[in-house]
Amino acid sequence: MSFNDKYTILKNLFGYDTFRPGQERMIDDILSGRDCFAVMPTGAGKSCCYQIPALMLQGITLVVSPLISLMKDQVTALKQLGVAAAYLNSSLTQRQFDLALSNARYGLYKIIYVAPERLLTQGFLDFASSVEISLLAVDEAHCVSQWGQDFRPSYLDIPEFISSLSKRPTVAAFTATATEQVREDVVKYLGLCNPDVMVTGFDRDNLYYEVAQPKNKYSALLDYIRAHKSDRGIVYCSTRKTVDDLYSKLTADGISVGRYHAGMDDEERRANQEDFTYDRIDVIASTNAFGMGIDKPDIRYVIHYNMPKNPESYYQEAGRAGRDGAAAECILFYSGQDVIIGKFLIENSSEGADLDEKTLAELRERDLKRLDLMVDYCLTPGCLRHFILEYFGETQQRSGNCGNCANCLGRYKTTDVTKEAGIALKFLHRFNENGFGFGIGASNLADALKGSRTDAVKRLGLDEEIYYGALSLMPLADIRRLIDTLVSRGLLEYSTGKYRTLEIGDEKLKKDDKIYIKNDPRYQSKGSAKKTEEVVPLPRDGSAAALDDAEIRKTDLFERLRALRKKLSDNRGIPPYMVFSDKTLIEIVKKSPLDREQFLSCSGVGQNKYRQFGEDFIAEIRSFLSDREPKRKS
Ligand code: ADP
Ligand code: ZN
Repeated sequence: MSFNDKYTILKNLFGYDTFRPGQERMIDDILSGRDCFAVMPTGAGKSCCYQIPALMLQGITLVVSPLISLMKDQVTALKQLGVAAAYLNSSLTQRQFDLALSNARYGLYKIIYVAPERLLTQGFLDFASSVEISLLAVDEAHCVSQWGQDFRPSYLDIPEFISSLSKRPTVAAFTATATEQVREDVVKYLGLCNPDVMVTGFDRDNLYYEVAQPKNKYSALLDYIRAHKSDRGIVYCSTRKTVDDLYSKLTADGISVGRYHAGMDDEERRANQEDFTYDRIDVIASTNAFGMGIDKPDIRYVIHYNMPKNPESYYQEAGRAGRDGAAAECILFYSGQDVIIGKFLIENSSEGADLDEKTLAELRERDLKRLDLMVDYCLTPGCLRHFILEYFGETQQRSGNCGNCANCLGRYKTTDVTKEAGIALKFLHRFNENGFGFGIGASNLADALKGSRTDAVKRLGLDEEIYYGALSLMPLADIRRLIDTLVSRGLLEYSTGKYRTLEIGDEKLKKDDKIYIKNDPRYQSKGSAKKTEEVVPLPRDGSAAALDDAEIRKTDLFERLRALRKKLSDNRGIPPYMVFSDKTLIEIVKKSPLDREQFLSCSGVGQNKYRQFGEDFIAEIRSFLSDREPKRKS
């Protein structure tokens, strides 16, 4: 294969017809010898930006990468494309390391991934000065900044390494982290020379966003997982204990699930992550410790079982869904309780214990503000996507309806309950003013507003209050949701005493404030827990091309090709997505190609992939088509 044209490489090697936004600009920069820095969201296709020029340039391309699992993944993926590449990190023995270096000296690899800690070791410096290095690509470049969450001190060695080389290579940096501060740090601490800085939009239109407020989170989760049997997903929880609980319950309910948190030993975590990568388990329950090393591109859903602490974390964690560009869902299960836990975690955090009182107070204040914003996200009746984009400063004029979030799709009925909120507040205010010396909890308040004469309501004399039964027309579940919302808005507060009774909060309902609650038809179902996904036949009239990703994924042909993909990947000891991504598999189902030319026209099928897998897939499609023909009577 000749490697002198970027379009040919894109098509023949990667199997794609056109560049994604920003890719070509970075490639052209690199080819012309200009430093560059790309801020592109996850899944935008950063790897191609340096891999394509790497194949066209004279010398070697070094890629600095922070994690062993990322390097291994990239190198294996390149091998599937027919490109010889290697990685150098602490997972290699000294002999393997030396062997890789001597192979590299012989020019066996065009692309070498290296851990930042290796750069200034003598062996590596000797190697680097004996070969021609054309390009230094810095992946996850935000690791150089102390402001980011993933600061890696050895990233600061990069400039020293560069200056040790007899000829300065072009330097290209990549990250998905958006903040201004981190961006400045990357340019400064990597010593980029007059770089072309490119920030693409942050929208990821294949991600569907939803906030649900299920009555029972666990059964909602179980329903969801069962209804998405052929999908792989992550369930994020805020504590290790919740992870462990979910893990046991889901296992008992027959779900193929793994778990991941910082309290487990390294080996167990590694094994669980690998099981997830290779599709040996369907779901992983984890804390936010399950993070950067996860570049599994075919994660179809990320469910937050608890509200995360701020929008940055949410965007990052939810963003692990759908890196391959096929449709994926990001769903947050919200409850007022999450807000209370979130506040508790901030107020009792050991982080910054070495700071002075004032700075610490400022830090807490900032964290509480970000938590509030997260609550706003959960409660907004507006577009969830716009909310996130606006948070990241993307304020371009957009049309009102994104068409791919629960709010825009009208999956929830939002009701303005500002008037009802006023009544609930008055009820509590009057009752507490009476000075009985005891308070009431959320469920008694709800019962009293509804006008239910429960034992507790009678005992506490709530049925004698003038607002007793004032919300009798509202369903009890909605009244509870209303109280929950008032708590998360700070209009009501739980007492710190032994009984969790309610008090009027510090916040006040202002004149133009509106309080909304959302109804939750999707997760109300009781007893539907056995419902599983059904497989539907692929339409015969050629209309498959018009189906969307989710519809294609439900078809019988998709199921068959997915099974074939698993078999082929198991035979080779690689994860299924390295045979073909979900996106490519969907395209193959749509086109149902029956010859080489048709098969190669599917996006994501390059020459080498075709050679390895094409005939097996075509044979499977043929057999599928003949299986469904009515058998002719003989
Ligand atoms: P990032 O590193 O930005 O998260 P990747 O480099 O892993 O993203 O690419 C994400 C997915 O997009 C991969 O499956 C990749 O093959 C695919 N991809 C990259 N470039 C293109 C393109 N021009 N057209 C279609 N798909 C692409
Ligand atoms: Zn929307």
